[in-house]
Amino acid sequence: MTEQTCYWWVDAPPPKSYRNKPLPEKADVVVIGGGFTGASAALRLAKGGANVALLEAETIGWGASSRNGGQALSCLHHTLTELIDQHGLERAREMFRASIRAADTVARIVEKEKIDCDFTRNGNIEAASKPRHFDRLKMEQETLARVADYKVRLVPPEEAATELGTDSYHGLMVNERSGGLQPAKFVQGLALAAERAGANVHEGTRVTEIEKTVTHNGSRFTVRAERGVVSTKEVLLAANAWVGDIVPQFRGRVFPAESFVIATEPLPDDLAHKLIPNKRVVYDTKNMVAYYTLSRENRMVWGGEGTATGLSTKRNIETLRHGMLKVYPELKDAAIDYFWSGTLGMTLDQTAHAGQMDGMWFSMCYVGHGVTLATYLGEQMANAILGLETFNPFEGLHIPRVPFYEGKAWFVNIGKAWYRFLDLVG
Ligand SMILES: Cc1cc2nc3c(=O)[nH]c(=O)nc-3n(C[C@H](O)[C@H](O)[C@H](O)COP(=O)(O)OP(=O)(O)OC[C@H]3O[C@@H](n4cnc5c(N)ncnc54)[C@H](O)[C@@H]3O)c2cc1C
Repeated sequence: MTEQTCYWWVDAPPPKSYRNKPLPEKADVVVIGGGFTGASAALRLAKGGANVALLEAETIGWGASSRNGGQALSCLHHTLTELIDQHGLERAREMFRASIRAADTVARIVEKEKIDCDFTRNGNIEAASKPRHFDRLKMEQETLARVADYKVRLVPPEEAATELGTDSYHGLMVNERSGGLQPAKFVQGLALAAERAGANVHEGTRVTEIEKTVTHNGSRFTVRAERGVVSTKEVLLAANAWVGDIVPQFRGRVFPAESFVIATEPLPDDLAHKLIPNKRVVYDTKNMVAYYTLSRENRMVWGGEGTATGLSTKRNIETLRHGMLKVYPELKDAAIDYFWSGTLGMTLDQTAHAGQMDGMWFSMCYVGHGVTLATYLGEQMANAILGLETFNPFEGLHIPRVPFYEGKAWFVNIGKAWYRFLDLVG
């Protein structure tokens, strides 16, 4: 097994390098971060005629965007029922509608830009890990229909074998509008499309400071990177988990959380078909969620579970494999070929945030739904910068401060331990 090598990187063609190019002195917009948010925004900005510089500290997709589970979901982390409790009916409905638009946005961009990223729109499955979780899914189905006129299909336990080759769940919910893709190929394709449209893409360009300035030529910000300085009218912060490193206002509010993934060896066609007959992407209803999908090569890609930062690689692999074998014991002899992790940007309210702060634009923290939502909100922020119409119900939400958080997210493992406890007793 290759330790800490992301399978998607190996499976994707060698990426284009955007290193060592001289930085422009001026831009209309500087986008900081080259994941889905930044690349999607740069694409839309360039198409809208803006002179845009995308500055990525490492390589395109180096953050969460090339390492994730590839689930392109038409829903949010919170159920619509929860969103109504938190934000009231109107905003909740708009947030959910944004998630539908987000899934459609990915489909549109993939098609229009001809991005070869194994995109399929076969739907997703939410699998009830406990009997009473199926009641929750029933309630959510009713809320989705009533509030958002959105249809999902419930599959009772006795019929679940039509969707998943396991008897370990207590019913399923199928959302046909979701899909799956190869994330490294998708983010690379987004950056290439942005460059084709005229965006100036730079890798190995870590931004260290943003200074607000007003000069005679109308620039409002000076963006200092390790390799140079760019004057710009607008700044879009697309650095997700790391945004607090550059903008102190987000420190203590946005924090990193690591998620771990394994990929098995390629499975025989008949076995893969038996496990997930309709090639949907799947996640369960545990607090320590398991998310999984079959890759193009029929590898089972399995993430989440009770993995945690600070535990040994061996322990995290065992945890993932154990979770996988509980659902699919027939994978007991399947070799684990890859193991890797990635970092999500999180907030205490576990909600996306996109808007403006001190004249800068930002979009981040999609809680495991960024394949679609980051792509969508990146585009919406670009629209806002271009002065075009936007649909962004994630604007203006308070971002709660994490008490006693000074840069080391010590509380993430405590939160995970608490979730594990709830999964055991709940
Ligand atoms: C293991 C894992 C599994 C996941 N599974 C799913 C899934 O199945 N479905 C789903 O929808 N979502 C999933 N997610 C979440 C999803 O990947 C993210 O929401 C999404 O990639 C966020 O995109 P982004 O562009 O905002 O951030 P990122 O992709 O994290 O990009 C931020 C970029 O900013 C750069 N950067 C940081 N600081 C600076 C700086 N100072 N200067 C310049 N650049 C900087 C970083 O290098 C990074 O490349 C998963 C995440 C992880 C980690």
